[in-house]
Parts: sequence; C-alpha cells; structure tokens
Amino acid sequence: MRLIGLTGGIASGKSTVSAMFQQLGAPLLDADLIAREVVEPGTPALSEIAQRFPFAIDSGGRLDRKALGEEVFSRPEERAALNAIIHPRIRDAFAEKTRALAEGGAPLVIYDAALLFENGLDRTMDEVIVVYVPRAVQLQRLIARDGLTLEQAEARLASQLPLEEKVKKAGRVVDNSGDREATRAQVERIWQSLSASA
Ligand code: ADP
Repeated sequence: MRLIGLTGGIASGKSTVSAMFQQLGAPLLDADLIAREVVEPGTPALSEIAQRFPFAIDSGGRLDRKALGEEVFSRPEERAALNAIIHPRIRDAFAEKTRALAEGGAPLVIYDAALLFENGLDRTMDEVIVVYVPRAVQLQRLIARDGLTLEQAEARLASQLPLEEKVKKAGRVVDNSGDREATRAQVERIWQSLSASA
C-alpha cells in the first residue's frame, strides 16, 4: 500500500483539494479527524490530558481544545507533554486505519495532514503532494475565510514552515492560485497518475 501525504499551508486550499480527491473516490485519512477521535470521551488519551491539564475538560467531559491550545501555545514544555500523550495515539490510529484500507484492497491511501512536514511525517510517506498558493493569495484567502487582520494572518503564517519550503520538498504540487476548476483539473491528473502507478 502506497502512502501519499497531502499538505499545504494554512488557507492554501488543502481542504478544498482533499474534498476533490474524495469526490474522485480516493481513500483518504484526515489527520485532524483522527486527532479528534483519539481524545473522544472514554479514551486513554483524554484521561491523561485530564490529569495534566484539568482545566481543559469542559463540564460535559469533553476536551476544550481552545483552552488547551491557549495554555500550551507559548509553553514548549507543556506542548511537548501534550504531544507525548496525543502523537502515539494518532500514529496507532493511523496505522490501524491504513491496515483496514489495505485489507479492503486499497492500493494507496492519501493522508491529509496540515503539519505533515512540521511533524516529520513526510519521511514516512512514499510521496507528498503540496497545495501551493503565493503568499499574497494565502494571506488574502486566510483573511477572508477567518476574518483576521493582516497582522493576525501574518502571525499564523509565521508559525508554519513557509509554503515555498514545503514545495521544494514535495514530489507533486497542486497550484491552487487559479480558480477551482483549474485546481480540479490538476487533482484529476494527479489522481489518474497515482491510480496508474498504484
Ligand atoms: P486550507 O484547508 O488549506 O486551510 P481551504 O481549502 O479552507 O484551505 O481554502 C482556504 C479558503 O480559500 C477557503 O475559504 C476556500 O473556500 C478558499 N479557496 C480555496 N481554493 C480556492 C480557489 N481556487 N479559488 C478561490 N478561493 C479558494
């Protein structure tokens, strides 16, 4: 089974491209969904988080991701502790879902992950696809989507590896600076090529 990473930068269009792959029938695992699943109520990861970060559990016993995010954002040690709880669970869940897809006969799986490079997961993929837009377009779409100021948008970008760097490391690039149809045409070409080589 071939593992194909799909990533981008914030608001570069990864979700848009991911939805296009899914519409084409591509087997796809979403890192963000898996990250939510592993901290559902009743999971070992949530109990460990509750011990270390009790304030991050809401009155319904669910994880308050915003409270937790704000706490660990500027505290590297706390962030590392959180990652040590969550990352192994994400890895295991990913491995299990990949195995299930392989057993079902899927020749490849696309792993949709915003922080693929930042988390070193690119090294575990057979190939990586990066969704690219120039910085000005990225800022403009981020501001429009999330209602941010330019300063806020620039701060979000600053916390990620620059898209240009990701493009240099990518085997395939989807240029999402045109309209959605131009992007869809590239996604279809990539899907055909992946399917043919799988
Ligand atoms: P990401 O998942 O990378 O953060 P999204 O797929 O949410 O990015 O796209 C960011 C924003 O840009 C969204 O509001 C989306 O609707 C818009 N968008 C995505 N692709 C295009 C495009 N080709 N043309 C115009 N707007 C786009």
